[in-house]
Amino acid sequence: MTRDGVFEAPGRINLIGEHTDYNDGFVLPIALPHVVRITAARRDDGVLRLSSRQASGVTEIRVVDLVPGAVTGWAAYVAGVVWALREEGHPIGGFGLLVDGRVPLGAGLSSSAALESATALAVTELSGVSLDRLELARIAQRAENEFVGMPCGIMDQSASLLARERHALLLDTRSMATEHIPFDLAPAGLTLLVVDTRAPHRLVDGEYAARRRDCHRAAELLGVPALRDLDRADHDLPDRLAHRVRHVVTENQRVVRVAELLRAGRIREIGPLLTESHVSLRDDYEVTVPELDVAVEALLGAGASGARMTGGGFGGCVIALMEETAVEACTKAVLAEFAEHGFAQPECWPATAAAGARRADHT
Ligand code: ADP
Ligand code: MG
Repeated sequence: MTRDGVFEAPGRINLIGEHTDYNDGFVLPIALPHVVRITAARRDDGVLRLSSRQASGVTEIRVVDLVPGAVTGWAAYVAGVVWALREEGHPIGGFGLLVDGRVPLGAGLSSSAALESATALAVTELSGVSLDRLELARIAQRAENEFVGMPCGIMDQSASLLARERHALLLDTRSMATEHIPFDLAPAGLTLLVVDTRAPHRLVDGEYAARRRDCHRAAELLGVPALRDLDRADHDLPDRLAHRVRHVVTENQRVVRVAELLRAGRIREIGPLLTESHVSLRDDYEVTVPELDVAVEALLGAGASGARMTGGGFGGCVIALMEETAVEACTKAVLAEFAEHGFAQPECWPATAAAGARRADHT
């Protein structure tokens, strides 16, 4: 066992299955080539020393003093993972951890899960603690839920830790069954374009928690353990809850359908399902903002076969499936529409399905 090492964990985009992971449903993310890299070294003094190239200041705390609230800001994502591991009885001691991230922060590409996942892999591996990737994902989620205070589901951490190159990860968040489904666009002449709208995230934490509460309440009223358990989309509920339910039920159905199409090698046919997902998130789940809707319209108008917001919403990124030959027209259309609306200039780039977290040095 070595005392130090370099570890990387990727950000992700979700192909489809939005706001389903906290309803025991299905998600279908891919990992991105963008990673958070952590250079880690064990220390004998029981002190956790955290710094990041993307943040100022250094956080130092003894691991025995870790409790939720003791560390705030970006360092909480890292300290929280050490806390969660120790809570569950794993012998994690002091560490020096230097973070260098290439996942854009707060863009909906899950830099937070990448940071947690890289931490989880680094400190367990260098401590001789062997946990499988699903366990690491659960620990990382616990850190974000209980230490950072963000009630996220388990999709992002699972994608970061379990994804495979040129594959999408189908995850059943109830059974935690996983399937790696081929997702290789280039040989098919297709591109998945990401549009980072750079829209400032508005109300994210509060609205996210409110959606979770709506789902929980609806499940309670309908007498099911989770919205995953419903087959029908329409239910007799107060309007808002009925809309939330319809999104979750139809979104789960769309994930299953997209997975079937991908397994059958019919990638081209997933486009309309992506667009349906966006409409559902816009009208029933009410988590889009004008930048996301304008980007989707512009992409579809310029020849994309499908487009949707990806991630939690309220800003962040849009993804669109298109023929390679349509990329230029789609990019131009988005830039023009954003300028027209007076929005910040978005960033457009093609996504490829990359590998999950790994050790990146050769010791
Ligand atoms: P997302 O996960 O979509 O990027 P979040 O708001 O969930 O957005 O997480 C972003 C937060 O994660 C940042 O505000 C910061 O606290 C933390 N973070 C991510 N990457 C880094 C990094 N390289 N250095 C320091 N903090 C980071
Ligand atoms: Mg996040």
